[in-house]
Amino acid sequence: MNAEARPILVIGGGIAGITAAVEAAEVGYRVILVEKEPSLGGRVIRTHQYFPKMCPPTCGFEINIARIRRNPRIEVHTLATVEELSGTVGQFTARIRKRPRYVTGEHPVDDSLIEQLTSERANDFNAGMDKTKALYLPHDMAYPPVHVLDREALSETDAEIIAGADPAGAIDLDMTDEEIEVEVGAVIVATGWRPYDATRLDNLGFGQYPNVITNVMMERLAARRGPTGGEIIRPSDGKNAQNVAFVQCAGSRDENHLPYCSAVCCMASLKQTRYLRQKNEDSRVTIFYIDIRTIGSQEKFYQEMLDDANVSFVKGKVAAIAEEPGTGDLLLDVEDTLSGENLHEQFDMVVLATGMVPNTADVELPLGLTYDPYGFIDGSTEVEGVYAAGCATRPCDVSRVTKAATAAALKAIQCLNRGE
Ligand SMILES: Cc1cc2nc3c(=O)[nH]c(=O)nc-3n(C[C@H](O)[C@H](O)[C@H](O)COP(=O)(O)OP(=O)(O)OC[C@H]3O[C@@H](n4cnc5c(N)ncnc54)[C@H](O)[C@@H]3O)c2cc1C
Repeated sequence: MNAEARPILVIGGGIAGITAAVEAAEVGYRVILVEKEPSLGGRVIRTHQYFPKMCPPTCGFEINIARIRRNPRIEVHTLATVEELSGTVGQFTARIRKRPRYVTGEHPVDDSLIEQLTSERANDFNAGMDKTKALYLPHDMAYPPVHVLDREALSETDAEIIAGADPAGAIDLDMTDEEIEVEVGAVIVATGWRPYDATRLDNLGFGQYPNVITNVMMERLAARRGPTGGEIIRPSDGKNAQNVAFVQCAGSRDENHLPYCSAVCCMASLKQTRYLRQKNEDSRVTIFYIDIRTIGSQEKFYQEMLDDANVSFVKGKVAAIAEEPGTGDLLLDVEDTLSGENLHEQFDMVVLATGMVPNTADVELPLGLTYDPYGFIDGSTEVEGVYAAGCATRPCDVSRVTKAATAAALKAIQCLNRGE
């Protein structure tokens, strides 16, 4: 171990970045973890349960946060991005920009103050399906457990209420961007993914018909702390979603959208089918697919759904979705490629299994990296001392992400020790 080594900079505080940070810190290295959102957790913390074990993500998250809390070698910066990286392996300088939280974290935010405010913002944690006050805690398990203020959503009246009612100094409306420079020895990039924009699938009605939702919305509908308290109901009228269709490869494996396979969508739909079947024994599900691709040893996950009489699988790409006037029901046109039959089927709700787009698809990081044609970071990067892990490199599930993140931590540690 090189006691003189500079810290490892980890960019992205999802499961990949958190794993890389704790693994490196627990063998004695200092880590600076930079996350652009107000709290850590990335996409996994937004799932209701995660396969293969179907545990709530909060369990694993709590353990990882405890590892961060008790390790003084990890320094966390939220609302932060790396603006510039210069230097070479072992001797990088990173310029980090921190956006204002407007909440000092030095004193708790008084609930009665939040109650007085009327300004609201779309709740991105719940995939935009409900709202929070402009002054909010990102979610129950947020780390750091500090509120954040969406300044753009705050009305002048609410700003005056805050200015007048915050004697304890919990909020600072004058906070501005801050820049810091850090000297680091290696960098791990774990910037993850975002869902493909389903409004671009113009034949599938997302954004046009309220009961066409995406798989990330379904995770939040099923979640107890989600917008409906865990009831899987239709956005249009709150009716129980009894007969639900899943449209696989919604954008994925399509030259016009994402030519690649997003790797987890089949497993995600099989998992979400379980949510429906467990919550309502009369529920019915039809999965429209091109091929069902389960990951590694997860074939039994698929088999269990094949054995369920209330779950049907139809091999065929959905050509169009229309809404039945007056009911909010959805009509799907699809050719069953096994029987050759043209089907027109009616459902209460449709879930689009949209694929994963790397967060680096349109915004390159200032690190001199190379990207594949879709924006995933190529391989383990060609910049010595900079390593990538998780869905920043390819679509994958959590178990593969954590292995890749541990490998990236090892690579970073090795480069800090080279030449000792
Ligand atoms: C519908 C659905 C359900 C799923 N369910 C499961 C499941 O049950 N089991 C399973 O194993 N997998 C599941 N997955 C896959 C799982 O979500 C991914 O494997 C996981 O999110 C990858 O973690 P990550 O850390 O690489 O990326 P992310 O979770 O995307 O985290 C990346 C983090 O980096 C931050 N970031 C991005 N850009 C920057 C930047 N420039 N600077 C600083 N920070 C930045 C982001 O804000 C985010 O916090 C599912 C996927 C989908 C689509």
